[in-house]
Amino acid sequence: MTLALETRHLVKRFGGFIATNDVSLQIRQGARHALIGPNGAGKTTIINLLTGVLSPNSGEILLGGEDITSVSSYRRVGKGLSRTFQINQLFGDLTPLDSVMLAISERKGHGRFAWRPLSADREVADEAASLLERFRLVDVMGMPTTLLPYGKQRLLEIALAIAMQPKVLLLDEPAAGVPEEERHEVLGIVRELPANVTVVLIEHDMDLVFSFADRISVLAAGAVFAEGTVAEISRDPQVKAIYLGE
Ligand code: ADP
Repeated sequence: MTLALETRHLVKRFGGFIATNDVSLQIRQGARHALIGPNGAGKTTIINLLTGVLSPNSGEILLGGEDITSVSSYRRVGKGLSRTFQINQLFGDLTPLDSVMLAISERKGHGRFAWRPLSADREVADEAASLLERFRLVDVMGMPTTLLPYGKQRLLEIALAIAMQPKVLLLDEPAAGVPEEERHEVLGIVRELPANVTVVLIEHDMDLVFSFADRISVLAAGAVFAEGTVAEISRDPQVKAIYLGE
């Protein structure tokens, strides 16, 4: 079995508090793997450990079999591990067209401050156009990102992550805060993500989890409480008790 991403006995403490308690995850190549758990279960901490925002106290992280525990956040992206960008911090004043072109240039190694105008690069422009179309962003591609409807902003976040051509994509609540009338578009795009990209989804919305994921890891109090297929997890009485409050 090929693993796209793996953690081995990952531990993260904040002072005396153990936020990640001996977490070993095995994410298979091409999986749609959901990470669920109640508030405070430790989901965000694990994402921050996976992306390199936080360093673990002990344990290892492997990407495609390579130990990346000590690799910087930036270099993890280059190795194929992407998460959705926080566009309001990074790209708020830019248009979707500009930010997608920047992301593609970055990936191609042109650098953010390449001397020639971005629009002069035909290959980048063509790839940007097809990405914007795929993510239903053509209508709004010339608007400042902060003025986009919220659902379109979330789509842009995913488009920017996909522009990096990740092997593994970490999707953190892709439809959170998206108004009901825009939700189906965001969820549709999430379901259409390329099959060769392994997706780790952190999500509260159980409808999305059950319709999207093939495997689920349930976290509780920093530890993996249960792991299995959607069918196994959805009928596990302990999972229902701890997570669904039944
Ligand atoms: P989740 O994303 O599942 O809601 P988090 O990973 O955000 O959970 O948090 C897990 C626990 O770790 C919480 O009890 C939270 O208060 C604690 N925690 C998270 N980050 C820090 C931090 N920087 N310092 C201290 N405690 C933290």
